[in-house]
Amino acid sequence: MVQSSIISAHSVNAINPLITQSPPSKTQPQHPKHMQQALQARQKKVQVYTWTVEALQRQYQRRLCEDRLLAQKHEQEWARLHHHRQQLEHTISDYTQQIQAHETALQAARAHAQQRQSKYHTRQRQFHRYAKIPMLGGTYKQKYLRAQKKNQVAESDVAAQRHGIDHIKDNRTALVRQLQQQTGDEEWVTLLLDDLKTRMALYETQMAHWNQGPPDDDDDEWPALHDIDFECAKCMQFVRQDHPRPDKNRPTDILCTACYQGARTSMIIKKKLGFLHHNSPTSSSLSLTPSSSRQSSFVNPPSPPPKDNLPPYSKHVL
Ligand SMILES: [Zn+2]
Repeated sequence: MVQSSIISAHSVNAINPLITQSPPSKTQPQHPKHMQQALQARQKKVQVYTWTVEALQRQYQRRLCEDRLLAQKHEQEWARLHHHRQQLEHTISDYTQQIQAHETALQAARAHAQQRQSKYHTRQRQFHRYAKIPMLGGTYKQKYLRAQKKNQVAESDVAAQRHGIDHIKDNRTALVRQLQQQTGDEEWVTLLLDDLKTRMALYETQMAHWNQGPPDDDDDEWPALHDIDFECAKCMQFVRQDHPRPDKNRPTDILCTACYQGARTSMIIKKKLGFLHHNSPTSSSLSLTPSSSRQSSFVNPPSPPPKDNLPPYSKHVL
């Protein structure tokens, strides 16, 4: 609920020519006083609502823009990660095929090495048997040495195949680790994007809700302006679930509860010390009325929007 003492009479007068330009006079028919007060109270409530909502709309619009940019960045990052992940998967399956091919070659090399080994053992036995026999001994020595060499070549071929497989397997293991990392990153960016999209949808829902404006009938429910996340113009904190209220001196700014109460207290103290004065008894119900010297601090008083370009919630004000 908006408090009735929130806005200075100056502010209300600025947007409420109906009331200020028709001062009580004996020649014109007057609304009964209570009707006029009720009208003023409603005008004030509508103005507070409008200022608050306009400030919130500006903040949310800005955050929406920032989030859109952020979402774009995340989408690019996601595309990069996704592309890299596909490349990794491709290389890994390539390595797996290479390993399979090498395994087949290794099987063949092992079989060959086994043959070479048994041949070598045969030649070894023959050489030992005929070594002391002239002529024959020399021939078998030659056969033995050839078999020994062929056996060594076959064994080193097996070793080379096995080494090649180990090397590819090591590479593949490194890539699989990289892929896991990459998949995790991709999931994380997806989560961030989902969160962003949820938040942006919330902003849009919230803004559409505020755009409906105040109800025509005071008995109807007003769009709630408490429990809102916003940035306070004074302490610059991003406050959560608070009730924004327009700054009395700069109604285009909204304040958190603490700052609003602080400003209000200091204003009351100033008033008690006599820094501020009422200039007419009729305005006392609208809290403080700026004197002419005070008015100079309103460098840019908020002006009502042009009549042909009214946001939907402004039509009640004029
Ligand atoms: Zn604050």
